[in-house]
Amino acid sequence: MQPNNPSPQISGKSSPTGEKTIASVEMLLHRMMNRIRQSLELPAILTGTVAEVRTFLETDRVKVYRFDPDGSGEVVAESVAEESLPSLLGQHFPADDIPPEVRELFLKARQRSIVDVANQEIALSPLDCPETGESITQDDIRFRSVDPCHIEYLTSMGVQSSLLVPILHREQLWGLLVSHHSSPRQVTERELQIVQLVADQLSIAIAQSTLLEQTRAQAAQEATINRVGKLLHSMTEMRLQQALELTVSALQSAGGRVYIAPPNHKEEAQLFVCGDWGVDKNGVQEKESGEKVLEQSPIPFEEHHTWQKWLDTQETVSPGKQTWAIADLHQLALPEYLADTFDGAGVRSLLVIELQSRQKHLGYLSVFRREIEIETLWARRPDRDDPRQQRPIISFETWREFKQGQAQGWTNAEIELARALGGHFATAIHQYQLYQQVHSLNASLQQDIEERKLAEIKICALNAELEQRVQERTTELQRANTELVREISDRKQAKASLERLSRQSELILNSAGEGIYGLDSQGKLTFINPAAARMLGYQVEELIVSIANKDLNTYPTYILPKFLHESGDGFMHTILKHLKPDGTLYSWEENPICHTLRTGAVQYITGDIFHHHDGTKFPVEYVSTPIREQGKIVGAVVIFKDITERQIVERMKNEFVSVVSHELRTPLTSIRSALGLLTHGSLKNQPAKSQRMLEIAFDNTNRLVRLINDILDIERINSGKVTMEKQNCNAAELMTQAVDEMQAMAEKAEINLILAPVETHLWADPDRIIQTLTNLLSNAIKFSQPRSTVYLSAKLQDSQIIFQVIDQGRGIPEDKLETIFGRFQQVDASNSRNQGGTGLGLAICRSIVQQHGGRIWVESNLGDGSTFYFTLPVSNQ
Ligand code: ADP
Repeated sequence: MQPNNPSPQISGKSSPTGEKTIASVEMLLHRMMNRIRQSLELPAILTGTVAEVRTFLETDRVKVYRFDPDGSGEVVAESVAEESLPSLLGQHFPADDIPPEVRELFLKARQRSIVDVANQEIALSPLDCPETGESITQDDIRFRSVDPCHIEYLTSMGVQSSLLVPILHREQLWGLLVSHHSSPRQVTERELQIVQLVADQLSIAIAQSTLLEQTRAQAAQEATINRVGKLLHSMTEMRLQQALELTVSALQSAGGRVYIAPPNHKEEAQLFVCGDWGVDKNGVQEKESGEKVLEQSPIPFEEHHTWQKWLDTQETVSPGKQTWAIADLHQLALPEYLADTFDGAGVRSLLVIELQSRQKHLGYLSVFRREIEIETLWARRPDRDDPRQQRPIISFETWREFKQGQAQGWTNAEIELARALGGHFATAIHQYQLYQQVHSLNASLQQDIEERKLAEIKICALNAELEQRVQERTTELQRANTELVREISDRKQAKASLERLSRQSELILNSAGEGIYGLDSQGKLTFINPAAARMLGYQVEELIVSIANKDLNTYPTYILPKFLHESGDGFMHTILKHLKPDGTLYSWEENPICHTLRTGAVQYITGDIFHHHDGTKFPVEYVSTPIREQGKIVGAVVIFKDITERQIVERMKNEFVSVVSHELRTPLTSIRSALGLLTHGSLKNQPAKSQRMLEIAFDNTNRLVRLINDILDIERINSGKVTMEKQNCNAAELMTQAVDEMQAMAEKAEINLILAPVETHLWADPDRIIQTLTNLLSNAIKFSQPRSTVYLSAKLQDSQIIFQVIDQGRGIPEDKLETIFGRFQQVDASNSRNQGGTGLGLAICRSIVQQHGGRIWVESNLGDGSTFYFTLPVSNQ
């Protein structure tokens, strides 16, 4: 059926209602423009406009018909004279009522049509060329006959005259401005122009209104985004549940869910659900608080292996954007698991946004819509037997159509809104996870710090303790060290002292003139000094035999613990062959040294006899002293000396005393008897005898004086009381003086005294040398026969001078050649009386010569005379 087959009559000059005044037209346009300007609400504009247009055209109905995307349409505004025509407001007309080609001409040529049912004519007036789209400058009105179906259609509606003017918006056919009249009516050209102007104004109003709607929708979206964003980006907590609810509401969905994938293997997934998602059977439980959480099992569908696979097969809203807007799940072949899941939840339309932040998958935001029932009020019930509407429409009866199980798809604006919200969710979740990470890092950092602090405190405490210990230990060590140093120093000192003492002791022992030896408590030798060994005729080493296996370190070298003598036992008593002074052998028990060892008594013994190694004996004087250790006698020290010489000296002294007493007593007795005779006067009358007595007394007195002088002289020389006053002197002069002194004595004894002087210098005491020479000359004269000769000569030999006094007297027996140099030694004791000698002359001579570093001796053949020699060193000067 061609409903719009035009057959109206267009009158260029008049209309059935008469020509409108220009003023009224202007008023109409003015009011409409004002309305459009004043209101932005399209329904009000449309309602006002249809009223104005009907008033202007004075027709029974003026309506605005709006096309739906599928080509069908709806009456969205209407002004109707209800007594003439029924209201069609809100009624839908199928797409077929206005075929596509007609809609095409509406759009491309902006073609208006005027139908005159009575004349079955239609007038078509395009504004633009359908081929080029350019405006047609001159009115081009074409008349055609109307399709009978269209006539019937209009007639059924009760319309005799119709006027259709397309309304365009953004180069799309938005709708139609339609005027219906129940009786035939002419449409003037001017009316057409005016209605066209109105339609143009409506286009503007629609544009404005659409813009406003868009702005409002955008504002609403932004508000939603802001609210969701606020909920999600709250500093304190992420109110995901509320954000989800807001999202579901803003997207006019039945429910939604946010699935957050586990950020790591330690954590679990999180699921937030809103609305009647209806997936309880899949494991979501609602808590008392309203929060719906996932049960332990089964897993959320987002974790099911079919989910991602299925999503991958689905087209995204645009390439690269992980958003899936599925208008109708029933149109798709779903995996069984998902089909069950969605069917169970009553999910029909699904909008899924993958939550990503910086290429990291975080989860999904899903919202869904259930299927809906769509109610449409149709202007008439479609003829099901004539789906293509081939038969004429003969009646219009409104028909309310209910369509069940309809899917409600997603608009671009909704998809964009969902994407924007998804972005916020993703960012918020990511930030929340980062925050959680940071928080847990902070917590562990805090814990770390706490632990480190504790550890530091512990370390500090340990350090302090350690330091204290080190300090204490150091102090202890220092103290110990100081003590050690002191001890070492003490020991060194002690050792040094000991060594010094040892050395001193050794020196003392070694240099001691006395023999010193030590015995142990058994009387065995423990040490012996060199003097003792020498006196006994041994080397120390001989007495100290093997000391192997003995601890030498505890003894100084000179103290050797044990030794073995030839006897094998080191028993000193046996080595010494210790004898009593009378020459009988001691038994060890009666030995005074044994007594010391037994009793500790110090023994001073003189006259005992020790044996020399060669078997000779010598008298000793010794002291034996006990050695005590801690009060116990552990040995004895014996200090001894050889008293052989002392015994000789004592013997000599005894002899000297007896000789002196004899030598003094004899002249004294003689003097005493002479003086006695004279004193008693018995010789008073005998002058010659008296004279003789006096002479005897005088001679003996001289002798005594000489004797005493000699004794004192030799004693003073030997004791060092008389020092030799040495000086440079001439040997010849000394010899001459001596001979001169003795000349008188020689003449008296009729001895020829011959001198052979030697000229040489001597460093000597001249008086003492003359005394020596005169003494020797005196003896030579004394012991020579008269008329014999005595010679005094000298010779130089090796830096010394040898004086010789030669006589031709009686000579001296060989065994007296040495002894005559001793005191009071004479070959013949009668000499002293006969010759007036004292026996001290040669002793004095020897002392003087020895004091000059020379030697004196005699050579003699008995009966042939004697030669006395003495030497003196020759002076170098
Ligand atoms: P003195 O002559 O006073 O007796 P001396 O000491 O001078 O003492 O001499 C000791 C002794 O030596 C003499 O008594 C004498 O027997 C002997 N004698 C000394 N000179 C000679 C000598 N020229 N010829 C022989 N006998 C001498």
